[in-house]
Amino acid sequence: MEKIELLITVKTYPTPSTRYREIVCTAGVKQDGSWIRLYPIDYRFKDYSQWYKKYQWIEVDVEKPKQDPRPESYKLISDIKILSKIIDTKNNWAERKKYVLAKGTKIMCWLEHNQNQNNISLAVIKPKKVKDFVWEKTSNQWTTKQIYALAEMRLFDKNHPSQLEKIPYKFSYIFICEEPNCKGHKMMIEDWEVMELFRRTRDSYGEKEGLKKVKEKFLDEICSPKKDTYFFVGTVLQYGSWIIIGTFYPPKLQQSGEQMNLFGLNH
Ligand SMILES: [Zn+2]
Repeated sequence: MEKIELLITVKTYPTPSTRYREIVCTAGVKQDGSWIRLYPIDYRFKDYSQWYKKYQWIEVDVEKPKQDPRPESYKLISDIKILSKIIDTKNNWAERKKYVLAKGTKIMCWLEHNQNQNNISLAVIKPKKVKDFVWEKTSNQWTTKQIYALAEMRLFDKNHPSQLEKIPYKFSYIFICEEPNCKGHKMMIEDWEVMELFRRTRDSYGEKEGLKKVKEKFLDEICSPKKDTYFFVGTVLQYGSWIIIGTFYPPKLQQSGEQMNLFGLNH
């Protein structure tokens, strides 16, 4: 058993699991910037006091799981203790950058072609150029097996949330990474925020508008030339393939004066 403090940076949309009912891929960084993946977390069934948000520090007891060879994966064996408020974005996201970028960035082509998930399965990458944000229609129904998994009641449930909605779209970024010979990547994004934004805007303005709003936020705003955009990427255990699990987009620093401000040299 190990006790760790973690700054949450990633929360993916829940997926049904026959073993754990529904799970949210949760990841974050420790003080030194090293990545940790926590599971299983049946987030929506937990007591509200454990509903951590992105950029909050939490404390948990963990152990290495037996069936997951990925070095960053840890099994949660305690309740989740929330230690801080949400770390704010003051000073060009200085406090968040300090931890998130502490270990630098990786190159997507290198991760995809030269690594396997037994060595690395979570990273920050810098897209050199984001070309598009696209979606494909998928089923709006869970499979029968998934419905059974989701409907299971458990003795210690603190919450009884409504049935998890199957979002009928798959959203992906198309981008070039920093590798000079990069042929381009099309990678799915499974950030909870994407799905929530779609659901919310669709419920108010209809499906077409919902999709438009998601693109406005995740392409026009997050990947705007004014932002210094990064992607959090992680592997899917069964396949070892990489997906995007979150975005990080502090404002681009234009002048050296601002740069100095970031490190507090002007104060
Ligand atoms: Zn590439």
